[in-house]
Amino acid sequence: MDFYPIAIEKLIEEFAKLPGIGHKTAQRLTLHVLNLPREEVKEFAEALMKARGTIRYCSVCGNFTDSETCAICSNPNRDESTICVIEQPKDIMSIEKIREYNGVYHVLHGAISPMSGKGPDDIHLKELIRRINGSVKEIIVATNPNVEGEATAMYISKILKPLGVKVTRIAHGIPVGGDLEYADEVTLSKALEGRVEL
Ligand SMILES: [Zn+2]
Repeated sequence: MDFYPIAIEKLIEEFAKLPGIGHKTAQRLTLHVLNLPREEVKEFAEALMKARGTIRYCSVCGNFTDSETCAICSNPNRDESTICVIEQPKDIMSIEKIREYNGVYHVLHGAISPMSGKGPDDIHLKELIRRINGSVKEIIVATNPNVEGEATAMYISKILKPLGVKVTRIAHGIPVGGDLEYADEVTLSKALEGRVEL
Protein backbone atom coordinates (compact mmCIF):
# COMPACT_ATOMS: atom_id res chain seq x y z
CA MET A 1 0.00 0.00 0.00
CA ASP A 2 2.94 2.28 0.61
CA PHE A 3 3.53 2.57 -3.09
CA TYR A 4 0.46 4.74 -3.63
CA PRO A 5 0.87 8.53 -3.61
CA ILE A 6 -0.52 10.19 -0.46
CA ALA A 7 -3.54 11.64 -2.32
CA ILE A 8 -4.63 8.15 -3.32
CA GLU A 9 -4.06 6.74 0.15
CA LYS A 10 -6.16 9.57 1.54
CA LEU A 11 -9.04 8.88 -0.85
CA ILE A 12 -8.98 5.16 -0.02
CA GLU A 13 -9.05 6.06 3.65
CA GLU A 14 -12.07 8.36 3.14
CA PHE A 15 -14.03 5.75 1.18
CA ALA A 16 -13.23 3.16 3.85
CA LYS A 17 -14.96 5.36 6.45
CA LEU A 18 -18.30 4.85 4.68
CA PRO A 19 -20.64 2.19 6.12
CA GLY A 20 -20.26 -1.22 4.52
CA ILE A 21 -17.08 -0.28 2.66
CA GLY A 22 -14.03 -2.38 3.47
CA HIS A 23 -10.48 -1.55 2.48
CA LYS A 24 -10.63 -3.57 -0.74
CA THR A 25 -13.82 -1.89 -1.93
CA ALA A 26 -12.40 1.51 -0.94
CA GLN A 27 -9.39 0.75 -3.11
CA ARG A 28 -11.61 -0.27 -6.02
CA LEU A 29 -13.74 2.88 -5.72
CA THR A 30 -10.63 5.06 -5.58
CA LEU A 31 -9.18 3.50 -8.74
CA HIS A 32 -12.58 3.94 -10.39
CA VAL A 33 -12.64 7.65 -9.50
CA LEU A 34 -9.15 8.09 -10.90
CA ASN A 35 -10.33 6.75 -14.23
CA LEU A 36 -13.33 9.07 -14.44
CA PRO A 37 -13.29 12.24 -16.57
CA ARG A 38 -12.42 15.27 -14.43
CA GLU A 39 -15.84 16.82 -15.08
CA GLU A 40 -17.61 13.80 -13.58
CA VAL A 41 -15.43 13.86 -10.48
CA LYS A 42 -16.20 17.55 -10.08
CA GLU A 43 -19.95 16.85 -10.31
CA PHE A 44 -19.62 14.10 -7.71
CA ALA A 45 -17.68 16.30 -5.30
CA GLU A 46 -20.16 19.13 -5.76
CA ALA A 47 -23.12 16.81 -5.15
CA LEU A 48 -21.52 15.70 -1.86
CA MET A 49 -20.92 19.27 -0.74
CA LYS A 50 -24.37 20.44 -1.81
CA ALA A 51 -26.17 17.59 -0.06
CA ARG A 52 -24.29 18.15 3.17
CA GLY A 53 -24.64 21.92 2.94
CA THR A 54 -28.35 22.23 2.18
CA ILE A 55 -29.97 19.18 3.72
CA ARG A 56 -31.28 19.42 7.27
CA TYR A 57 -33.95 17.79 9.42
CA CYS A 58 -37.61 18.67 8.92
CA SER A 59 -38.74 20.84 11.84
CA VAL A 60 -41.90 18.73 12.20
CA CYS A 61 -40.94 15.10 11.67
CA GLY A 62 -37.14 14.92 11.53
CA ASN A 63 -36.99 13.63 7.94
CA PHE A 64 -34.36 15.03 5.57
CA THR A 65 -35.36 18.22 3.81
CA ASP A 66 -33.85 21.17 2.00
CA SER A 67 -36.45 23.56 3.39
CA GLU A 68 -38.19 24.14 6.72
CA THR A 69 -40.52 21.14 6.41
CA CYS A 70 -40.13 18.00 4.35
CA ALA A 71 -42.10 17.05 1.23
CA ILE A 72 -44.37 14.73 3.24
CA CYS A 73 -45.20 17.18 6.04
CA SER A 74 -45.91 19.95 3.55
CA ASN A 75 -48.18 17.75 1.40
CA PRO A 76 -51.81 18.72 2.18
CA ASN A 77 -53.03 15.31 0.98
CA ARG A 78 -51.24 13.45 3.77
CA ASP A 79 -53.36 12.39 6.73
CA GLU A 80 -51.95 14.12 9.79
CA SER A 81 -54.07 12.11 12.20
CA THR A 82 -51.79 9.07 11.79
CA ILE A 83 -48.11 9.28 12.66
CA CYS A 84 -45.78 6.41 11.83
CA VAL A 85 -42.75 6.39 14.13
CA ILE A 86 -39.50 5.08 12.69
CA GLU A 87 -35.86 5.05 13.74
CA GLN A 88 -34.15 6.60 10.72
CA PRO A 89 -35.06 8.74 7.69
CA LYS A 90 -34.22 5.79 5.43
CA ASP A 91 -37.13 3.86 6.94
CA ILE A 92 -39.50 6.41 5.41
CA MET A 93 -38.26 5.30 1.98
CA SER A 94 -39.00 1.66 2.84
CA ILE A 95 -42.58 2.45 3.84
CA GLU A 96 -43.20 4.92 1.03
CA LYS A 97 -42.19 2.24 -1.46
CA ILE A 98 -45.20 0.09 -0.59
CA ARG A 99 -47.51 3.01 -1.51
CA GLU A 100 -50.17 2.12 1.03
CA TYR A 101 -49.48 4.54 3.82
CA ASN A 102 -50.90 8.04 3.59
CA GLY A 103 -50.19 9.32 7.08
CA VAL A 104 -47.20 11.31 8.24
CA TYR A 105 -43.98 10.21 10.00
CA HIS A 106 -41.85 10.88 13.00
CA VAL A 107 -38.15 10.05 12.91
CA LEU A 108 -36.62 9.18 16.28
CA HIS A 109 -33.04 9.25 15.02
CA GLY A 110 -32.19 6.17 17.04
CA ALA A 111 -33.76 3.79 19.51
CA ILE A 112 -33.65 3.29 23.25
CA SER A 113 -30.74 1.03 24.04
CA PRO A 114 -29.87 0.47 27.69
CA MET A 115 -26.92 -1.66 26.55
CA SER A 116 -25.25 1.29 24.89
CA GLY A 117 -26.51 3.80 27.42
CA LYS A 118 -29.06 5.38 25.10
CA GLY A 119 -32.14 6.56 26.95
CA PRO A 120 -35.41 8.27 25.96
CA ASP A 121 -33.74 11.69 26.09
CA ASP A 122 -31.17 10.67 23.51
CA ILE A 123 -33.72 10.17 20.74
CA HIS A 124 -36.37 12.53 19.32
CA LEU A 125 -39.15 11.48 21.68
CA LYS A 126 -39.94 14.86 23.21
CA GLU A 127 -40.54 16.11 19.69
CA LEU A 128 -43.05 13.29 19.17
CA ILE A 129 -44.91 14.04 22.40
CA ARG A 130 -45.11 17.68 21.38
CA ARG A 131 -46.93 16.63 18.21
CA ILE A 132 -49.71 14.86 20.06
CA ASN A 133 -52.83 16.96 20.00
CA GLY A 134 -56.55 16.29 19.67
CA SER A 135 -56.32 15.60 15.95
CA VAL A 136 -53.79 12.77 16.23
CA LYS A 137 -55.72 9.47 16.25
CA GLU A 138 -53.07 6.80 15.90
CA ILE A 139 -49.36 6.34 16.42
CA ILE A 140 -47.97 3.39 14.47
CA VAL A 141 -44.66 2.31 15.95
CA ALA A 142 -42.50 0.89 13.16
CA THR A 143 -39.17 0.73 14.94
CA ASN A 144 -36.94 -2.21 13.96
CA PRO A 145 -37.94 -5.67 15.25
CA ASN A 146 -34.92 -6.07 17.52
CA VAL A 147 -34.35 -5.58 21.25
CA GLU A 148 -33.84 -1.80 20.97
CA GLY A 149 -36.81 -1.36 18.63
CA GLU A 150 -39.11 -3.34 20.94
CA ALA A 151 -37.94 -1.48 24.05
CA THR A 152 -38.59 1.80 22.25
CA ALA A 153 -42.07 0.66 21.16
CA MET A 154 -42.96 -0.30 24.73
CA TYR A 155 -41.73 3.01 26.08
CA ILE A 156 -43.67 5.01 23.49
CA SER A 157 -46.83 3.09 24.29
CA LYS A 158 -46.33 3.69 28.00
CA ILE A 159 -45.97 7.45 27.68
CA LEU A 160 -48.52 8.08 24.92
CA LYS A 161 -51.42 5.96 26.08
CA PRO A 162 -52.19 8.23 29.05
CA LEU A 163 -52.52 11.05 26.51
CA GLY A 164 -55.45 9.19 25.02
CA VAL A 165 -53.88 8.28 21.71
CA LYS A 166 -54.08 4.82 20.14
CA VAL A 167 -50.63 3.26 19.85
CA THR A 168 -50.12 0.33 17.47
CA ARG A 169 -47.10 -1.76 16.55
CA ILE A 170 -46.45 -3.17 13.09
CA ALA A 171 -46.95 -6.93 12.98
CA HIS A 172 -44.13 -9.43 13.09
CA GLY A 173 -43.75 -10.53 9.52
CA ILE A 174 -40.39 -8.89 9.62
CA PRO A 175 -37.83 -11.33 10.99
CA VAL A 176 -36.88 -10.60 14.59
CA GLY A 177 -33.50 -8.97 14.79
CA GLY A 178 -34.04 -7.67 11.27
CA ASP A 179 -34.01 -4.20 9.90
CA LEU A 180 -36.93 -2.38 8.28
CA GLU A 181 -34.68 -1.46 5.41
CA TYR A 182 -34.23 -5.07 4.34
CA ALA A 183 -37.86 -6.14 4.59
CA ASP A 184 -39.36 -6.72 1.16
CA GLU A 185 -42.38 -4.67 0.15
CA VAL A 186 -44.94 -7.48 0.57
CA THR A 187 -43.68 -8.30 4.07
CA LEU A 188 -43.69 -4.67 5.08
CA SER A 189 -47.14 -4.12 3.62
CA LYS A 190 -48.50 -7.10 5.59
CA ALA A 191 -46.74 -5.94 8.74
CA LEU A 192 -48.36 -2.53 8.43
CA GLU A 193 -51.77 -3.99 7.65
CA GLY A 194 -51.64 -6.46 10.55
CA ARG A 195 -50.54 -3.95 13.16
CA VAL A 196 -51.75 -4.57 16.69
CA GLU A 197 -52.63 -2.19 19.46
CA LEU A 198 -50.07 -1.92 22.23
ZN1 LIG B 1 -41.45 16.29 7.84
